[in-house]
Amino acid sequence: MATTLLTYAGPGEPDALVTRTGGTPLAPAGASWPSCATCSGPMQFLAQILLDGLGRPVREADIQADHVMAIFMCQNDPGMCDEWSPTAGGNRALLYPSDALQPMAAPEPNEDEDVLRLGAVNAVALVSSPCADYVSAREDWGNRSGNSLGNVLGQLGGQPDWLQGDETPACSTCTQPMTLVAQFEEGPDHTTAMNFGGCGTAFAFACGPCTQAAFLWQC
Ligand SMILES: [Zn+2]
Ligand SMILES: [Zn+2]
Repeated sequence: MATTLLTYAGPGEPDALVTRTGGTPLAPAGASWPSCATCSGPMQFLAQILLDGLGRPVREADIQADHVMAIFMCQNDPGMCDEWSPTAGGNRALLYPSDALQPMAAPEPNEDEDVLRLGAVNAVALVSSPCADYVSAREDWGNRSGNSLGNVLGQLGGQPDWLQGDETPACSTCTQPMTLVAQFEEGPDHTTAMNFGGCGTAFAFACGPCTQAAFLWQC
């Protein structure tokens, strides 16, 4: 099984219908910006991932997306809202049908932008690697391309590279183990990075048949 790396491809468009980190979430008209279950504040938008009709990540540019996953995490009081947890309500992974998407309106015009959005939009390039696991794929890509491993933003699909124990979430509808959609590193620039505890890695999961998603991170 090959590995698909997400690599940094420079500044991205903030409202493009592509897999990216940062920018503005795309959602159907009327979808509201999610808020944190603990502190009730608006969450920060982290990433958007294109999915096919089976809830799998789209790995080819010419395949049309069926859904998008939008990932949010509370950053109103970092560390205080169990942002790492797939179930505590300090983050949300939402699935939207990909037709009729539009940029989601921010909750309040004068809301602190740092709370709502990352400091940069990162475009991603999908790099197919013959290596079977994420760690070897990263190293192989770094060696072949001469790129810093900091430019690996994560992987699309594949097997989770857990820093701690296996925390594969169960689908809340069918109770089956969910499938990894993407793993994310914090990002190449610490001033605009996602906050997974400072050195963490995050996991977005989905259950395609039930249209359910979950997000968690470890450090
Ligand atoms: Zn919160
Ligand atoms: Zn399910």
